[in-house]
Amino acid sequence: MTVEVAPCPACGQPLAIQAYLPTDARVVCANERCGATLRIATRRPLRYEHVPTPQTFTAASRPESYG
Ligand SMILES: [Zn+2]
Repeated sequence: MTVEVAPCPACGQPLAIQAYLPTDARVVCANERCGATLRIATRRPLRYEHVPTPQTFTAASRPESYG
Protein backbone atom coordinates (compact mmCIF):
# COMPACT_ATOMS: atom_id res chain seq x y z
CA MET A 1 0.00 0.00 0.00
CA THR A 2 1.45 3.34 -1.00
CA VAL A 3 1.35 6.26 1.38
CA GLU A 4 2.71 9.76 1.11
CA VAL A 5 3.92 11.92 3.97
CA ALA A 6 4.02 15.68 4.48
CA PRO A 7 4.12 17.82 7.63
CA CYS A 8 0.97 19.34 9.09
CA PRO A 9 1.11 23.13 8.49
CA ALA A 10 -0.41 23.75 11.91
CA CYS A 11 1.78 21.60 14.18
CA GLY A 12 4.51 20.23 11.91
CA GLN A 13 3.81 16.57 12.63
CA PRO A 14 4.38 14.34 9.61
CA LEU A 15 1.07 13.04 8.30
CA ALA A 16 0.76 10.02 6.04
CA ILE A 17 -2.13 9.69 3.61
CA GLN A 18 -3.13 7.12 1.05
CA ALA A 19 -1.61 7.92 -2.33
CA TYR A 20 -5.00 7.69 -4.06
CA LEU A 21 -6.45 10.70 -2.24
CA PRO A 22 -7.01 13.49 -4.76
CA THR A 23 -6.00 17.11 -4.57
CA ASP A 24 -8.54 19.13 -2.55
CA ALA A 25 -9.44 16.14 -0.37
CA ARG A 26 -9.88 16.92 3.33
CA VAL A 27 -7.88 15.14 6.01
CA VAL A 28 -7.62 15.63 9.75
CA CYS A 29 -4.28 15.92 11.55
CA ALA A 30 -3.44 12.75 13.45
CA ASN A 31 -2.02 14.76 16.34
CA GLU A 32 -4.84 14.72 18.88
CA ARG A 33 -3.64 18.01 20.39
CA CYS A 34 -3.78 19.62 16.96
CA GLY A 35 -6.69 18.01 15.12
CA ALA A 36 -6.50 20.60 12.36
CA THR A 37 -8.60 20.11 9.26
CA LEU A 38 -6.29 20.10 6.26
CA ARG A 39 -6.82 20.26 2.53
CA ILE A 40 -4.49 18.56 0.09
CA ALA A 41 -3.17 21.57 -1.80
CA THR A 42 -0.68 19.83 -4.08
CA ARG A 43 0.35 16.23 -4.69
CA ARG A 44 3.80 16.51 -6.27
CA PRO A 45 5.19 17.27 -3.82
CA LEU A 46 2.47 16.56 -1.28
CA ARG A 47 1.52 19.68 0.64
CA TYR A 48 -1.31 20.43 3.05
CA GLU A 49 -3.22 23.65 3.53
CA HIS A 50 -4.90 24.47 6.84
CA VAL A 51 -8.68 24.73 6.59
CA PRO A 52 -10.22 26.83 9.36
CA THR A 53 -13.13 25.05 10.98
CA PRO A 54 -16.29 26.86 12.13
CA GLN A 55 -15.62 25.80 15.71
CA THR A 56 -12.51 27.98 15.86
CA PHE A 57 -14.55 31.08 15.09
CA THR A 58 -17.19 30.85 17.77
CA ALA A 59 -17.49 33.75 20.19
CA ALA A 60 -16.52 31.54 23.10
CA SER A 61 -13.08 30.87 21.66
CA ARG A 62 -12.24 34.55 21.13
CA PRO A 63 -10.81 36.79 23.80
CA GLU A 64 -12.47 39.85 22.29
CA SER A 65 -16.17 40.48 22.47
CA TYR A 66 -18.01 41.93 19.52
CA GLY A 67 -21.27 42.58 21.35
ZN1 LIG B 1 -1.39 19.16 13.10
